Amino acid sequence: MPVSMEELVRLCKARGFVYPSAEIYGGFRSTYDYGPLGVLMARNVKEAWWRQMVQLRREVVGLDAAVLSSPKIWEASGHLKNFTDPLVDCRNCKQRWRADEIATFEVARIPGTVTPVPEEPRTGVLTCPNCGSHDFTEARPFNLMFKTFAGPVEDEGAVAYLRPETAQGHFVNFANVLQSEHLKPPFGTAQIGKSFRNEITPGNFVFRTREFEQMELEYYVPPADAQRWFEYWREERFQWYVRLGIPSEMIRLRNHAKEELSHYSAGTTDVEFAFPWGWGELEGIANRTDYDLKAHAAASGQPLEYFDATTGERYVPYVVEPAAGVARTMMAFLIAGYTTDEVAGEKRTYLRLHPRIAPYQVAVLPLSKKENLSSLALEVLALVQPVTMCDYDDTRSIGRRYRRQDEIGTPLCVTVDFDSLEDKAVTVRDRDSTAQERVPIDRLVEVINSRLSW
Ligand code: ATP
Repeated sequence: MPVSMEELVRLCKARGFVYPSAEIYGGFRSTYDYGPLGVLMARNVKEAWWRQMVQLRREVVGLDAAVLSSPKIWEASGHLKNFTDPLVDCRNCKQRWRADEIATFEVARIPGTVTPVPEEPRTGVLTCPNCGSHDFTEARPFNLMFKTFAGPVEDEGAVAYLRPETAQGHFVNFANVLQSEHLKPPFGTAQIGKSFRNEITPGNFVFRTREFEQMELEYYVPPADAQRWFEYWREERFQWYVRLGIPSEMIRLRNHAKEELSHYSAGTTDVEFAFPWGWGELEGIANRTDYDLKAHAAASGQPLEYFDATTGERYVPYVVEPAAGVARTMMAFLIAGYTTDEVAGEKRTYLRLHPRIAPYQVAVLPLSKKENLSSLALEVLALVQPVTMCDYDDTRSIGRRYRRQDEIGTPLCVTVDFDSLEDKAVTVRDRDSTAQERVPIDRLVEVINSRLSW
């Protein structure tokens, strides 16, 4: 049965994935903190992304740009003028909404992809999700950038903005990267970091927050190849989620309608996931054309182009951008992984997470707290810790400890029992099948490594 939002939020809080921020003060407007398991899982999501986008590729390099930088960036990129959402007020209940969120879009079928895209009705009519009224004020553009002041004087000259996307940090470093790395299009820069948007309607747990983390690749290509690379990244990104355990029927690709496209985009496809409330975006893949490089070149007076010394060719590359969110991805893995079954006549809940995404890969569980067992269990822990994240739990009954590890998605439990003292072996229990296997301690790391292979 699919997990409800109430159950997901409960589990996240109870098990230490996600806490409401400033809860002791009554919370703070859809803001969340990551607990001990949440940080581990978020790190794994980022690591899985980095591995695929940087480590396994020859032509992609990393970058980590500043959150606070020159406001000239946002003027040149068009964000000061265009990074707005249409704000409407319901005349009946006075609630404030994003007009595009409360209308539905027609969904286009994408030829040549593996994803079935069900049609959705197009209503074009705004309906208030709170009271059902159709009576709204005219849409007004609302800029989503957070404004602040750099330095002690709060005047116009000190205005700065928290970045609303990591992308511009890539573009303003385009020439630096080309200079320090010998790269030729197609090549990319990858960056993971915080972005900030003053969202009109944050909500749906961590789906839409005002502070969030993005994982963005800017992939520079010869203009004539942009469409091909756009299609390549759509498929590549879709498969990344499937490989990490999202069932293909819970995810789809959706093309943006023309009216929906961002000011810089010649084409955008969203990777969408079947959230409990309906389809929602996990990632946007956009063909940003040469819009950004040209805009920054014009505003800064610096040439931002590629020069091929062997052919004498000079051009401004097009950019294809797959941009994903850490929290939404994490939430999708939690929802897709949430499973209930019956073990020995008892109902059990477990998270069927990919072993590399789960917060802990291994839990070491001594059967009792007796001195001789504890010291052997700690030796086993010391063997596993350098290899991967390992939990250690010697409280309560072994059955309850297995349930806890199941509920937080730990793929392997290693139980140290009294026989272990004699046979120098441990029991390795599999989360999904609950099957148990006796493994000699000196082969344990090898067994764990084979289970963790990507
Ligand atoms: P939406 O349409 O949901 O507002 P977007 O299309 O504006 O999202 P992008 O600019 O494409 O989002 O950003 C790339 C990714 O960053 C999104 O797919 C999402 O995963 C993440 N993201 C964007 N805004 C938020 C937010 N407010 N909270 C959490 N994640 C976000």
